[in-house]
Amino acid sequence: MALRIHPDIASLSPYVPGKPIEELQRELGLARVIKLASNENPLGPSPKALAALVGGHDSLHRYPDGGAYRLRQALADRWKVSLDHIILGNGSDEVLGLLARTFLAPGDEAVMADQTFVIYKMEVTAAHGKAVIVPLVNWTHDLDGMANAITAKTRLVFLCNPNNPTGTMVAADAVARFMAKVPDDVVVVFDEAYLEYVCDPHFPDSLQYVTQGRNAIVLRTFSKIYGLAGLRIGYGITTPEITNCLNRVRPPFNANTLAQRAALAALGDDEHVTKSRAVNAAGMQQLERGLRALGFAAIPSQANFVYFDVKRDGRRVFDALLREGVIVRHIEGTMLRVTIGQPDENDAFLASLKNVLQST
Ligand SMILES: *Cc1c(COP(=O)(O)O)cnc(C)c1O
Repeated sequence: MALRIHPDIASLSPYVPGKPIEELQRELGLARVIKLASNENPLGPSPKALAALVGGHDSLHRYPDGGAYRLRQALADRWKVSLDHIILGNGSDEVLGLLARTFLAPGDEAVMADQTFVIYKMEVTAAHGKAVIVPLVNWTHDLDGMANAITAKTRLVFLCNPNNPTGTMVAADAVARFMAKVPDDVVVVFDEAYLEYVCDPHFPDSLQYVTQGRNAIVLRTFSKIYGLAGLRIGYGITTPEITNCLNRVRPPFNANTLAQRAALAALGDDEHVTKSRAVNAAGMQQLERGLRALGFAAIPSQANFVYFDVKRDGRRVFDALLREGVIVRHIEGTMLRVTIGQPDENDAFLASLKNVLQST
């Protein structure tokens, strides 16, 4: 059958997610599979979030609260802004899509790094915008290069901080210099999916740009430290004016009932967040030490994953690790990304990596 597809859409490749655990178990007949591929919280969801899900069953025949009043109010309280600064998404991924659809006309430009979250380019292209790609410098966003890449056609700039897949961050002073150069009518997207893991005190307070009334949006998610990736819930904090624009294209029931309930409970579980951060910090040291012992240097990371050069065909190492029951992420060339797991998972990864290095 003849099928007409826009060349922008034809230029995209479907996103390849991390392999599901059950699938690999089935394929290889393995008893144990370790997934360190998608930056999920190895401790699982907050127990409070799980408890909140139970009470949500009664109302599943009703549509969700499209205004998500309680969750948005809790987020507004947490970040000391008013309710009209908060927009929810079916994951923060969806908010990225809303931004592209809202602000990009065909041919408009969006500036982003070359090695960053793949969804930016996908959403920009799907909205018929043009992704303007600025190479990383020292595995870090080149904010001078990004400011220089802004033209009269630029509508959006994506700043992933800390950056996925490299784990690097840009500091407050560099962001301040950057914001001084960005024209007022360009919307700056601060994607802070890994904020809760950051240890460096120089991390920027990007919310200040929103409260100053700049055209900026800060994206956060319940998928990472809050451990609710499967429920799909994330949010943006932005000016009431931008919220109003995004709400024009937002599907009205995009944040589902169970996700709203669980996120609200998770937000109140500081204990789980603190514990998760501690497990991550210890796991980071374990992985850095283990990789160094094998002759590799992890790029210093502020997130819950490490990115490193395995110095041989990364795809082959990835495949060999799969056969050992360890799922990581091959990004490109010789670069692998591994999510920090529980101590035994980190050990199992390091042992498997050591094994497969002989055969790759
Ligand atoms: C994981 C991640 C997200 C969050 O995606 P959700 O749709 O909220 O699950 C957003 N940005 C980056 C950079 C991420 O790594």
